[in-house]
Amino acid sequence: MKFFTRKLMSVVIAASFCFGLASCSKTPAESSAASSTEATTTVAESKASESSASSEESKAAVKTVTEGKLIMATNATFPPYEYHEKDQIIGIDAEIAKAIADKLGLELVIEDVAFDSIIAGVQSGKYDIGCAGMTVTEDRLKSVNFSTSYATGIQSIIVKEGSEIKTVDDLIKGKYKVGVQSGTTGDIYMADTDGGVGEDRVDRYNNGNDAVVALLAGKIDAICIDNEPAKAFVAANKGLKILETPFTEEKYAIAISKDNEELLTAINKALEELTADGTIGKIIEKYIPTK
Ligand code: GLN
Repeated sequence: MKFFTRKLMSVVIAASFCFGLASCSKTPAESSAASSTEATTTVAESKASESSASSEESKAAVKTVTEGKLIMATNATFPPYEYHEKDQIIGIDAEIAKAIADKLGLELVIEDVAFDSIIAGVQSGKYDIGCAGMTVTEDRLKSVNFSTSYATGIQSIIVKEGSEIKTVDDLIKGKYKVGVQSGTTGDIYMADTDGGVGEDRVDRYNNGNDAVVALLAGKIDAICIDNEPAKAFVAANKGLKILETPFTEEKYAIAISKDNEELLTAINKALEELTADGTIGKIIEKYIPTK
């Protein structure tokens, strides 16, 4: 309990466009098996010519890494936000980024990279945006700008069914090993000795699926990961469950280079319009149905 309430303080509440996702129960679990960490590129089908008249304005104003393209870095092992389906990367982030790209008259290109390389890649001008269920934190704000938030995440703990770990406090006080996805907020919280389990009890994995494999093999005792992928992993793998404990709430937003204020402004405008016309709500409802 202490862990989660204290950590809440370090998460920056940046946004005015937020959607409560915590109560949702269904996720596209079949997709959680995706575990590739190799870089792949998916080019969304839409072309600049499909953009609306209002986009023409933004198009003229926005500079990107490669003219005419919006290069999005993500780690596509994070259902339902981004995951592989056949040769495509789909999910909430992929669709929101596509809707933004359409508005800006840009072609969306998705690069699938290690999560912990996204911020550095955005900062160095390799990618235009990082869109990866990425939590706004004070630390990350030192390196990149964040758009207004478009979704909420919660840190969850996955254990094996029948585990003696019943609460987050059990996990913190015990001698248990916790798996995390490297460089995520779950990693940061858990590695902290003050409120987490401490560095020497954290095992880092490239993606959530690798952590699930380790948990099933008994190499670790629990996983700390965002709630929606947690639900998808539990649904796709027998013998796992999520602890019923209070969770910390985080805001997801799009990371943008500090050198490209115009892109930040254009993306925030697009997000505002896409929120107002119901597009973002529909995308989220598609992947996390509430009905
Ligand atoms: N929300 C977490 C973070 O930003 C995890 C994101 C992810 O693994 N894609 O650190």
